[in-house]
Amino acid sequence: MRRMNTYDDNDPWHAEVNLMLAVYCSASGCNASVDMPVKSEEEMPWEQQCVETAERAQAAGWTRHDIHFYCPEHAHAATDQSNAPVRGARRTRRAWLVGTLVGVVLLGAAAVYPVKHWLADREFHDAVARNLDATAVSTDLEADLRLMWQTAPMHSQPDARASTIAAMMAASRVFNTIELVGKTGAEVRALLGSPQTSSDSVYRHEPFFPLTSRALVYRIENGMFGWEFHVLCQGDEEPVTAVERFAIE
Ligand SMILES: [Zn+2]
Repeated sequence: MRRMNTYDDNDPWHAEVNLMLAVYCSASGCNASVDMPVKSEEEMPWEQQCVETAERAQAAGWTRHDIHFYCPEHAHAATDQSNAPVRGARRTRRAWLVGTLVGVVLLGAAAVYPVKHWLADREFHDAVARNLDATAVSTDLEADLRLMWQTAPMHSQPDARASTIAAMMAASRVFNTIELVGKTGAEVRALLGSPQTSSDSVYRHEPFFPLTSRALVYRIENGMFGWEFHVLCQGDEEPVTAVERFAIE
């Protein structure tokens, strides 16, 4: 018995069988094929089955031109019909392969949003863990006072803006650093900025948590999580009596 060639991915016959499970005739209207036996791996390794099928086709008089294969009846087409259209079964299987690839890409894209959300959420919770530490104070208060008002377009509504994670962390450091109790309402607004006008966040100054008394509400969040500070104060000339911090999660 003649020794079989070894499988070679660059051999178009071998590759054709591996991809299509058969060698198909490219001649228009012809359904001829040399099918792969598709035996178990124990009976014959897959790649050897490809080689065996390719050799069977060649022995039966099949011919090839570029990526087109022709049955013995249409062998002449190998020279004069090199641009013959790709036929049904081949087209169907190629479409199936392309469809599978497109599906994989779409699934990957669909996974990006939850992964982004999860990463942002984890980043926030890591940052919260660090900022709950009493040592997490501002080392550059001027910079943090600007950064706490930073916003970015929201993932869910790109035409609306909300606080960034950097802004949340800066606000946390600012509130850890500045002692507001005893200052007047006017002094707080001059120092931190106005809750109403200092940012273009859609959530600015609207309390998410119920107010226990009149307060300046600093709400630094992104629609999923963030901080809300209630600076309890009865008016511009009145002193701050307490500062409440809430985590929006
Ligand atoms: Zn044919």
